Amino acid sequence: MGDSEKRQLSASAGIILIILLLCTAHIALADGEEVITDINSTYTLVPEDGIVKVSKEITFYNNDSKTRYWRGYYSSFNHYLPDNALKIKAFDNEMPVVFSRTSEGYHVFHFNRKVWYDESYTFRIDYELETNKNTAVFSLSEYGQRTEVILEVPAGFDTYLSRDDYEVEERMHSSVYKFEKGQRWDRSCVVNSVKVSPRLTLKNTAILSERDVDVEIRYWEGEEAWAQGVMQTTLESLVLLEAKWGFAYPPGYNITITQANITETGGYGGYNQGSSGIWLLYTSNPGILIHELAHYWTRACDFDQLWMEEGYADLYTYLVLKEMEPEDGISRRDRFLGKYDTMKKEYDFPLSDWSTPASLDNFNEKQVDFGYKKAFTLTYTVYETIGMEQLQEMNRQFLIHPGNIDNVDYLMIANSVSGHDISFIEMYLYT
Ligand SMILES: [Zn+2]
Repeated sequence: MGDSEKRQLSASAGIILIILLLCTAHIALADGEEVITDINSTYTLVPEDGIVKVSKEITFYNNDSKTRYWRGYYSSFNHYLPDNALKIKAFDNEMPVVFSRTSEGYHVFHFNRKVWYDESYTFRIDYELETNKNTAVFSLSEYGQRTEVILEVPAGFDTYLSRDDYEVEERMHSSVYKFEKGQRWDRSCVVNSVKVSPRLTLKNTAILSERDVDVEIRYWEGEEAWAQGVMQTTLESLVLLEAKWGFAYPPGYNITITQANITETGGYGGYNQGSSGIWLLYTSNPGILIHELAHYWTRACDFDQLWMEEGYADLYTYLVLKEMEPEDGISRRDRFLGKYDTMKKEYDFPLSDWSTPASLDNFNEKQVDFGYKKAFTLTYTVYETIGMEQLQEMNRQFLIHPGNIDNVDYLMIANSVSGHDISFIEMYLYT
């Protein structure tokens, strides 16, 4: 008779057997009580395979006094793995560890032995995350109070992390980012890593109403599909932007779009630098690209106010996207309107006070986000109230107006064009 069978006998003799479900949240206990979990996670970017290798060594200590004197044991461990985790394997130093995924989304790992009071059990979880060859974006998804995280990226990659509570060690062939044990992991850390390499070029021409505009996409090797997608969206949306704004592509120069990393865009999804072109984050969606293209028209209007620049860019993003990808356009609109509604209690400010920071950091990120959502909600409400024809008539008034358009000019033009009640505009601007 083996050891574990004896225990089962004593359990069936009337002693309560405790098999606790360990949610990660339950591990938030002071040392010396109940259970302790040490996690050592390593993330290694392997660009030649297009993956990040993730390996977690988990040591589980049963300090739960309720399991003293053989009154119970622990035999499983729950852990959230990201939805995009591939090739998940778990094993201790002798054999594989059986696991399953629950309908709640977390994995249950079944230990190969019972962990009685004052014992520990160590096992490993390995998985992979997919990346591109020269660009990688992924999350460090971690939990627990005693978690050490190491990220290793090969030399030659420009890497940006969404948290800053780590230390970096530059080695001969790699950079190693280390989060010490004891850091908080109540939010994951997004990693953006891009191989610094010369850019290739894709060229085409947009046939527009007044002239042909050359479009040049500058992209990193291995990102051909990205470049093709950006080119197609650009050619299609320029035609729609002309139609929706009611006047032709305004600048005298051609368009260059450069695939950029997050340092180059200052934390934004894209950046329109006029004749120097658009810098577009390699993870950006078509909405962000259309927004940046729409800025060629907002610049022509010579808006004095940030809310006009961004509100109109996002209104036209919606109007164009709704034609190209109706579902995406509508869900983007609803997301923006919904966010304005939920954020306004905490972050509201008059749009006339809004100015833009040169770059985004965690501190001002929410305020900036709210500014965009409020500006969109205003311009969208203007469009819904006055309709497309009057919206375009306003645009043409902006163009011929001498000097830039400030809040007073805007209200004057809106009132002269529209016969509708648009007194709500002032509410957005001044309260
Ligand atoms: Zn913008």
